[in-house]
Amino acid sequence: MLEVNPDRLLDGLDPAQRLAVTTDAQPLAILAGAGSGKTRVLTRRIAHRCATGTADARHVLAVTFTRKAAAELDGRLRKMGLRDLPAAGTFHALAYAQLRTIWASEQKAAPTLLDRKGRILGRILGNTKRVRPADLAAEIEWAKARLVAPDGYAAAAAAARRRPPVDPERVAGWYLRYEQEKRKRGLVDFDDLLLLCAARLERDPSFAAAQRWRFRHLFVDEYQDVNPLQDRLLRAWMGDRTDLCVVGDPNQAIYSWNGADASFLLDFAEHHPGAEVVELSDSYRSTPQVLAVASAIIGGRPIGAHRADGPPPVVVGYQSDVDEANGVARAVRDNHRPGRPWSSQAVLVRTNAQTTLFAEAFRKASIPYRVRGANRFLDEPDVGDLLQRFDRLSEPLVTTINDLEESVARQRAELLGAYGEDADGEDGRHELPDTAVGRRIDAFEQVVRLGRELLAMESGARTDSFPNWLRAVLLDDGPASADAVTIASFHSAKGLEWDVVHIAGCEDGYVPISHARTAEARAEEERLFYVAVTRAAEVLRCSWAKQRTFTTDPVDRVPSPLLTKVRDAIGHLERGGRAAADSSAALAQTRERLSAGAEVRPDAGDVLAVTNAISADLRSWRSEQARKAGVRPTVVLSDRALHAVASARPTTDDDLDGLAGLGRLARRQHGARLLEIVGSHVGSGSVPR
Ligand code: ATP
Ligand code: MG
Repeated sequence: MLEVNPDRLLDGLDPAQRLAVTTDAQPLAILAGAGSGKTRVLTRRIAHRCATGTADARHVLAVTFTRKAAAELDGRLRKMGLRDLPAAGTFHALAYAQLRTIWASEQKAAPTLLDRKGRILGRILGNTKRVRPADLAAEIEWAKARLVAPDGYAAAAAAARRRPPVDPERVAGWYLRYEQEKRKRGLVDFDDLLLLCAARLERDPSFAAAQRWRFRHLFVDEYQDVNPLQDRLLRAWMGDRTDLCVVGDPNQAIYSWNGADASFLLDFAEHHPGAEVVELSDSYRSTPQVLAVASAIIGGRPIGAHRADGPPPVVVGYQSDVDEANGVARAVRDNHRPGRPWSSQAVLVRTNAQTTLFAEAFRKASIPYRVRGANRFLDEPDVGDLLQRFDRLSEPLVTTINDLEESVARQRAELLGAYGEDADGEDGRHELPDTAVGRRIDAFEQVVRLGRELLAMESGARTDSFPNWLRAVLLDDGPASADAVTIASFHSAKGLEWDVVHIAGCEDGYVPISHARTAEARAEEERLFYVAVTRAAEVLRCSWAKQRTFTTDPVDRVPSPLLTKVRDAIGHLERGGRAAADSSAALAQTRERLSAGAEVRPDAGDVLAVTNAISADLRSWRSEQARKAGVRPTVVLSDRALHAVASARPTTDDDLDGLAGLGRLARRQHGARLLEIVGSHVGSGSVPR
């Protein structure tokens, strides 16, 4: 394959995106809202650097958080036409592959990977009724993600305002026993892989040198969800180099409950001295109508839309959960038409358990669907058989994968031939029909792809080592194929997009989830809903049910409090406003009403408009300061502090106290000016908050 012309890689990018692709700044963080092209920029940047020779594709490592995201990134990179394909993988898979090279070279038996903690934890819990193994596992995973050892658990949990199911000291005791038990039995869990790999890199210079030689250019997508353990590993991979580029959106941070920390992104320049932070501002994915609802949910700054107007989002209530599922199935069918295949629609729900109702309704309505996150891939009987065969093969994996690839390509061509189609259509590959054979071929293609992934990291791997690696890295996700509606949880929809999105179960208890009791947890639920909403390109439909049956009797439900914000934003749109795009007009109205001294309760659009306008002023003040001082804007004031000031709207010096990200120095230097800027928007008295 010919190396691509670098200029072509800048096609279809706006100036800010081009800058983000071409800047030679290192380390680099790209900070931007949903649908602003972060992932597009990341893949183009990788390709552009390879094409211009500032990076070597064979030494690029693109790190993601889930297998699915790695596959997504891999897919996008393949389309770039590079001669060599950069490696894309999850933290876990990469750490595991690297550790295995060490274990093999030391001729030590690799520890057994513990992929489910349930059994061990069940035994440790004995007949304790109040705590389920899954709850304890969640606490242990959180602690490990935060690099907290058992003896530090109680204090750390208190500081993070966690509410473990029982006395934190007891949790700490069980956590300690779990660690001891694992050690005794020669087991490691997924988090141990990261920890062991990082620790080894930190203390073994020759291992570190080899890995750092192997991977010289590091890229991370969705960096807002990185946790301290992953960050430690990332730093161990980096050593004292600076070739790191991360992209993310703080408003989409949805894993802090699991130990992630968006401040790694927000305070990137502090964590990585000399780093550059580039911001992208506009959305290319969603219509102004969808964006208006999205901004209303997080009360954030306006998101400029590049898409033409679309229909206003709708909210629909149903009598029961079953009615809702059938209603959504009808709506899915109504939206299905030429140019809008089933695969351009998704149903998003807060919990995995909710997916079953929709699967049932779709099955009855003969609508093809795919449940995301369900581990269908390894469950395919043919894949199981194949892996069992691999378990017994000691020949080089590269041979096995080459053979498999050839045979799968033949089967694909045959199958498509039977449907009268070429294997390669004009605009890429044809989707395979959703038949048993189609699914098998799809699954085998995934095996090939994953085999290549292992080979990219460990070229001499043997076939019998592949199945275990595969089981270890396939934490979730089924093969992507065929024309089907996606049913997915909000979490697993991250980073994806559909023309039509149905968000179901928008009820208190789901949105926010009932166990989100602290302010932080609720804020995370808002961001999660924002993630769900911003998956929609054109049509957004939110629904809820008055009654839901969990076990036997139906339970009464009330709409999600966040639906109020959605409705307000829709109302605003219907009155001709554009909450996101036309904030200045709404702001002018609010100002007018405020200055007239009228008793007004500003509606959501107005409040949003004020927040947006303050943000805009803060930004231009910040740019001006930065220009004068010859520093980057985020050095003057971090984004996090800027967001905090715009949404909290402090009016006194005391109000500035404790605002997220506003350190003592910034407060001393800029406090008065910040209050002035806020004051110029909201005056005193009837401040819309
Ligand atoms: P998320 O925050 O949801 O992960 P993102 O910032 O990663 O979103 P992308 O997925 O890269 O955004 O892009 C969103 C959509 O907009 C994609 O369909 C992408 O192809 C498209 N897009 C991005 N930039 C442009 C552009 N300059 N012109 C046209 N389309 C674009
Ligand atoms: Mg993305």
